[in-house]
Amino acid sequence: MDTEQPPSLFRPTDGGYRWQGVAYQPYKQDGSAPFKDISRQTLFHDPSLGCELRYFEMDAAGYSTLERHEHTHAVMIFRGEGQCLLGTEVRPVRTHDLITIPAWTWHQFRASGGAPMGFLCMVNTARDRPVLPTEAEAAAMRAVPAVARFFGE
Ligand code: MN
Repeated sequence: MDTEQPPSLFRPTDGGYRWQGVAYQPYKQDGSAPFKDISRQTLFHDPSLGCELRYFEMDAAGYSTLERHEHTHAVMIFRGEGQCLLGTEVRPVRTHDLITIPAWTWHQFRASGGAPMGFLCMVNTARDRPVLPTEAEAAAMRAVPAVARFFGE
């Protein structure tokens, strides 16, 4: 993303959940990647606001990274439906639902319903790096039956 030059004030959609002047960033994925079939577009990155608004989109079988961090997220489901893991709770989520992700809370989104799922995510510009669960932490999460089902086990 070009941070030298401010974006145009008006950036029309191209349709299909893409926008003019917004880079489409599919996440690189290898066998050990903790996410699947997900892309990111940073819609707003404004130092004067101190926050960014990103649009993440998963394919029908995709999921976001299972992670936690100090910073918080404000999320709106923008397209489709799926499931959200928050701490040890699994909830169905659908278009226009709002989800607050508190500090240091494990979270992951999974598309369901056989269609792509997208969400808007507001986040601080200055933020800590996400951490992934250790094997012991993942095992503790899996001990909750609803979470094991969410992981597809
Ligand atoms: Mn996160």
